[in-house]
Amino acid sequence: MTECSLLGCGQDEDQYYSMQDYEGAIARWCPGCGDHAVLTAVEKLLEAEQLVPEKTVFVSGIGCSSRFPHYLKTYGFHGLHGRALPVATGVKLRRPDLHVFAVMGDGDCTSIGAAHWIHTTRYNPNMVALMLDNGVYGLTKNQTSPTTPVGYPSNTQPRGAILNAMNPISATLGVTNASFVAQTGDWIPDHLYETIAAGFRHKGFAFIRILQRCPQYTTPLFDEAVRNPDLLEFMVHPNGIPMDGLEEIYKHQLPHDPSDLNNARCLAEPDERIRIGLFYRNEAIPCLDEVRQLPLRTAEEKIELLNAELDKYAV
Ligand code: SF4
Repeated sequence: MTECSLLGCGQDEDQYYSMQDYEGAIARWCPGCGDHAVLTAVEKLLEAEQLVPEKTVFVSGIGCSSRFPHYLKTYGFHGLHGRALPVATGVKLRRPDLHVFAVMGDGDCTSIGAAHWIHTTRYNPNMVALMLDNGVYGLTKNQTSPTTPVGYPSNTQPRGAILNAMNPISATLGVTNASFVAQTGDWIPDHLYETIAAGFRHKGFAFIRILQRCPQYTTPLFDEAVRNPDLLEFMVHPNGIPMDGLEEIYKHQLPHDPSDLNNARCLAEPDERIRIGLFYRNEAIPCLDEVRQLPLRTAEEKIELLNAELDKYAV
């Protein structure tokens, strides 16, 4: 048996991690919440890839889905509203050897965190961003979010949302350096898993919008699509997300080459069916953690540099 040489952490390289080894606290989401399915898919991925818990980090903002790091036995950072992405980017820049995941809700990512979302897409750090979109602020008890459909009532707009909903897929595809953009649903477990796995294997910033059921506040948003597979249309391609075994259930399939950005942008526009699958992937775009490698320094070197900076202000 050998020990982990990278960190000298006493890690046994031959150790096999089961899904239970990644389980943290018992999830306190509502019964039937789509977040449970996403957590299971992530735990399955951690086991399949045998990610060392000490080398894996989940960063979140604020919201129901942002409780994610508590429910995993990896490193985690439950941060500030909308700030998951800059924290996760900082982790990745300082420690490119770690596997970094950011978990956000729709309000978290597309409202207060919108600037970070756009710029992180442009920076293209090598990490996965899961945006769990239930179309509402759930943790704070039902307020209109940027992705709430027009006309849908909430506590803040009881007569219905007054603006058309933001489209997070087309918005991401419009940002310079977007390198991986996909959409899946929490109620399609195989596709959900395959999408997160493809995002994990992607070299660059993998933005995954997960349509997420919130039985507490927004049941009508996805209820029909859950019951009727004909309301979904899967984008299919050898370089896309595999849909093994799902072809019989989801009959509406559309060939789409995920290297075609213009077509991806067209397909992101609303249609009679919800599009599921990989819109775009481009691994030729440089990652921030490649183009801006930070030197690893000892604690003494950091203190010396900090003191040198402070000395500039000596009077
Ligand atoms: Fe899930 Fe909605 Fe409950 Fe939040 S309020 S835990 S999103 S079902």
